[in-house]
Amino acid sequence: MDFGKAVEELRLLLGDDKVFTDEEILDKYSRDMGGFTRRPRLVVRASCVEDVSKLLRYCSSHKIPLTVWGAGTSLTGAVVTDSVILDLSAMTRILKVDTVNYYAHVEAGVVLEQLNNTLKEYGFFFPPDPASSFLCTVGGAIAEGAGGLRCVKYGTVKDWVLAVKVVLASGDVVVFGEPLAKNRAGYNLCQLLVGSEGTLGVIVEAWLKIAPLPEFDIRRIYAVFDDWSDAGRAIIQIRTNRIVPRMLEFFDRVGLEAANKMHGTSLPVGEAMLLIDVEEITGKELPRVLQILEKNHARVVRVAETEEEAEQLLQIRATMYLAIRSVTKEVMVEDVCVPIDRIVDYLDKVQELSRKYGLTISMNGHAGDGNIHPLIFYDPDNPEEVKRAEQAVRDLVRFAIEVGGTITGEHGVGIQKMRELVEQLEAHNGLETLKLMQRIKKAFDPDNILNPGKYIDVSWTQSR
Ligand SMILES: Cc1cc2nc3c(=O)[nH]c(=O)nc-3n(C[C@H](O)[C@H](O)[C@H](O)COP(=O)(O)OP(=O)(O)OC[C@H]3O[C@@H](n4cnc5c(N)ncnc54)[C@H](O)[C@@H]3O)c2cc1C
Repeated sequence: MDFGKAVEELRLLLGDDKVFTDEEILDKYSRDMGGFTRRPRLVVRASCVEDVSKLLRYCSSHKIPLTVWGAGTSLTGAVVTDSVILDLSAMTRILKVDTVNYYAHVEAGVVLEQLNNTLKEYGFFFPPDPASSFLCTVGGAIAEGAGGLRCVKYGTVKDWVLAVKVVLASGDVVVFGEPLAKNRAGYNLCQLLVGSEGTLGVIVEAWLKIAPLPEFDIRRIYAVFDDWSDAGRAIIQIRTNRIVPRMLEFFDRVGLEAANKMHGTSLPVGEAMLLIDVEEITGKELPRVLQILEKNHARVVRVAETEEEAEQLLQIRATMYLAIRSVTKEVMVEDVCVPIDRIVDYLDKVQELSRKYGLTISMNGHAGDGNIHPLIFYDPDNPEEVKRAEQAVRDLVRFAIEVGGTITGEHGVGIQKMRELVEQLEAHNGLETLKLMQRIKKAFDPDNILNPGKYIDVSWTQSR
């Protein structure tokens, strides 16, 4: 492919100020936050649907591969490419907040935190809240089918998308879905775009369901345990007591020590910590949860007294991945998710693998969903250690599939998990489902220009 010619032609088509080849800019788009790297040849920063449509028409007719960039917080290599990057982060308009039909109509580049700040003024919120909400975009969160901290109560992004405006590979613009409480007209193509990782079309706008901000009190509890299993058992008992927390997060000593260092805080440290949001609807929820924590040997239990204290606890958890990255050479970020009743077995398994392979594995994540993320520490310059880390990941994935879990609860497949996706589909769903997915991809993108070589693409590689 002659990229020099493409740059010239795209500048004529879109304007000089939208097409970039400067080394410094290419650098910025060469790495996702999981450490996967590819160097793009050119970057287009679109500011409207028409820009996107023109670019896709051009790429289609010249068969040039293209990858959409939201904020680049992907942890699986889904967002890196050695071809064209289409950056939508300038498309940040909130077009409508509808407080009767309960939806927000937004452009794809809106950052989730920005959306929630605006919705707050109307007394509403968008519940799915990836820990990267302060960075990640609506388009990226939909394309990744993202989860988050509140998803234990509210479900993931898939449960909150009513409709999407999509630019197809051909450049045609379509809308899938309707901003309606009910709509049964046709196949649910809107949901097909959720979790499509930029392989089926470019999401340029979305109609997202929103919810009124709750009026009752939410109490944030911080609990410290000396044993991972005790924390795991507390999670199960909260559920069997029919309490649905608004947030139920787990983290360990390694993560908390890194976070305390990054924030200059001194939160009490144990082997395992739970951060729990309890909604005080009847007044009985908080005492019941406290009782469960005590019964499971929580050594310290604190209920945040002020909004500032509650916010600080949340920030410590939300930025833990970044804190850990600042104290390690490299980590492999795992995202397996197990049935919630197997959470204690899962925690035991991770500790067993840590001992077996002689590696530090730190755990933090959405324990209430069965989706705690193991972070496997390794030295990239030590090939033997890299091998051990990879083997630990293989064992973890196999364990998750065996117990009826999934290889990815929320981070998606990208280039990291292609082999594992096939394994899960083979074990749980039948390989015919993969063939069907590949036929759907072909129908949307006959020339395979949208984020090729990833996800369900058969010609895959797994190099970082
Ligand atoms: C600190 C940190 C915490 C995180 N916490 C969570 C968490 O709690 N839950 C969770 O689910 N994930 C989490 N993630 C992963 C990541 O943030 C989410 O997957 C996020 O939704 C990606 O959004 P983004 O805008 O950065 O997308 P990008 O990384 O830019 O892109 C991700 C994928 O979506 C595609 N894409 C982006 N925009 C569009 C579009 N408009 N149309 C079509 N395709 C598009 C890209 O091509 C790529 O395949 C975390 C990441 C970090 C770094």
